[in-house]
Amino acid sequence: MEFPLNIIKCSSFNNIKEKLFNTLECYSNLLPESKDAKILLKPNLNANMNALTGNTIDLRILSALIQFLKVKGYYNIVIGEGTNSGYYRNNISVISRLKVDNLAKYYGVKVIDLNFSEPVYINFEDGVKAGVAEELCNADFIINMPKFKTHFEAGMSVCLKNLIGCLVGQENKKKTHEDLARNILNINKKVIPHLHIVDGLIAMEGLGPTKGIPKNLGILIVGTNPFLIDLLCAKLAKFDHRLVTTLKLAEDEGIITKDYHEYIESLDIDAFISEFEKPKANFFASFIHSPKRQKYFLAIRNTRFFSYLASTEFFGHLLFLSGLRQDNFIKNEMKFEGLSFNENLCEKGCTKCADYCPIGLKLPDQINEKENRCIECLYCFLVCPNRALEFKGELGFLADQLRQYDEVTRKVT
Ligand code: SF4
Ligand code: SF4
Repeated sequence: MEFPLNIIKCSSFNNIKEKLFNTLECYSNLLPESKDAKILLKPNLNANMNALTGNTIDLRILSALIQFLKVKGYYNIVIGEGTNSGYYRNNISVISRLKVDNLAKYYGVKVIDLNFSEPVYINFEDGVKAGVAEELCNADFIINMPKFKTHFEAGMSVCLKNLIGCLVGQENKKKTHEDLARNILNINKKVIPHLHIVDGLIAMEGLGPTKGIPKNLGILIVGTNPFLIDLLCAKLAKFDHRLVTTLKLAEDEGIITKDYHEYIESLDIDAFISEFEKPKANFFASFIHSPKRQKYFLAIRNTRFFSYLASTEFFGHLLFLSGLRQDNFIKNEMKFEGLSFNENLCEKGCTKCADYCPIGLKLPDQINEKENRCIECLYCFLVCPNRALEFKGELGFLADQLRQYDEVTRKVT
């Protein structure tokens, strides 16, 4: 097989960093010669749900990767993602809510929301043209960083599907739905990342991408072939790969051949296999989203009147409750005024908060240091099993996420 891949078992930030550095050394001959090459990191920042819910990229991986690239001498590093169009439409910055902007500032790299980029048009099905962010076309090296998760429309969302975030704004993203699997492959024919790093640390099972359950898989997958990696992920999650719409299509089109299957079968991966709960939407959402009926639904959804209706808080909430819309676009921002440490609740020998800090702070001791350069990601607060770290300020949109994920996050991490 021309394109091998690596599975890395890891957990704490230091462990992630060490193992990712070692693995990336194997791929260093792929990196551009010129140190001022434009390197674009395309993380999965689907919604404003942090990595520990299983929805978005773990900032520890992003942090470790940026450190690796800097050690190698690259300085022209850009993080670029066109987040879920509903957030874009509601003028909510997922990049800011997930503190990717603070991480970028910490390392002195750029971050851009590709939803606002200049579009370069590529062909979709039936003569439709869709705009991909020009940064993808101008980059010298692209690293795709998807989350390992289930997806109620596509089966699973990993490398191939993550590239939907390369499309500019809602006006282009909505074009994918006319023929989702084919259009995802259309994007992948034009945007070809040089490397893929899959975040399978805290993955998502069940009704992904935003209503699923976090699952601690504790792995990263690194490789160059997105079809092979996605096929591996289906195997690891015990999914019939033909239920993943992009893989089925790729196989029908002869992209995935029997060599791919033989390669996956040859891997010693039993220790990493863990059955994922399938994404099952409720009856109403499944009925509407069935491929046979979806085009009629889209014809209605894309009318001006429906778009207006969907943008109102009341109707938007009805869509969320019906399951037709997965996200609840809460406008209230979080106001962070620091974390306080209750020593009495802290357990001796526990290292969890330090293990999850994406900038490697020596926690919990450094929490109260004024100049600790905390990026406010709240991972330490979210994982502490004893709630020894207390949030100061207003939770805003995060309050809703905590209602759904607080208990499970503390257990699963
Ligand atoms: S995670 Fe909580 S209990 Fe564990 S060391 Fe940190 S503060 Fe203490
Ligand atoms: S101290 Fe806590 S909130 Fe700050 S960067 Fe580390 S994990 Fe995130």
